[in-house]
Amino acid sequence: MKALHDRRAVITGAASGIGAAIAYAYADAGAMLVLCDRNAERLANVAAHCRDRGVLVIECIADVGVREGAQAGVDACVDAFGGIDILVNNAGMLTQASCVDLTQEMWDDMLRVDLTSVFVASQRALPHMLQQQWGRIINVSSQLGIKGGAQLTHYAAAKAGVIGFTKSLALEVSKHNVLVNAIAPGPIETPLVDGISHEWKAAKAKELPLGRFGRVEEVAPIAVLLASEPGGNLFVGQTLNPNSGDVMP
Ligand code: NAD
Repeated sequence: MKALHDRRAVITGAASGIGAAIAYAYADAGAMLVLCDRNAERLANVAAHCRDRGVLVIECIADVGVREGAQAGVDACVDAFGGIDILVNNAGMLTQASCVDLTQEMWDDMLRVDLTSVFVASQRALPHMLQQQWGRIINVSSQLGIKGGAQLTHYAAAKAGVIGFTKSLALEVSKHNVLVNAIAPGPIETPLVDGISHEWKAAKAKELPLGRFGRVEEVAPIAVLLASEPGGNLFVGQTLNPNSGDVMP
């Protein structure tokens, strides 16, 4: 039996990078998928590759930065598959500015997409998970939520918020066999970091104990582990840190 055989999973930000890699890993593990993203074209491509792996896939085009969009993936999963077992809150954005230059709009956008969406989607999924006494919520944070980052006060605040939310919700629901955990990657080669200069990336890679950025295939298996049994059963409110040694919390 595959690790996630017939589990019903929602993955946000599934059209690219880490979310797409989790979608492929979940498809290989036998899960039924609702893939959410605001980029319809790239989402269709990822969905097609998942279908090629033999699983059912629903595409959900939505902006998780607005309340209805953050709820849409869970709703689509319940409509199509009759419930939800796994929610991966992965969608995220990256902008940069020093705190003195950060506009209120940049701050609000970041908090809506990278933090509030995690709350809204989780709240939408919880009644189903609590009712069936089984659920897994996996929130993608960042190592910058632990160590901070210059020019990134809004991003680091949102990602630290994700870790606090994860721990608190885990305390509320773990007795109902709903396990909530986070993944806090270090620098990973994805389109999210495309905008950062080559020089900065080379200097950053040198600073890492492992000497290199991570690859999405090195992050996705963690999302499989956290959702699978028995391997994921004892993780409660934890933050797993695939970060090339950047922080050792
Ligand atoms: P990515 O840009 O490759 O993928 C992010 C996906 O999220 C994209 O497909 C994008 O369209 C989608 N998305 C963004 N805003 C959205 C919105 N409002 N509604 C719906 N979809 C939206 O980035 P990635 O590197 O794969 O990032 C995935 C997660 O990992 C993010 O939460 C990010 O903060 C986190 N992360 C990434 C790194 C890294 O170095 N790449 C490090 C730490 C944490």
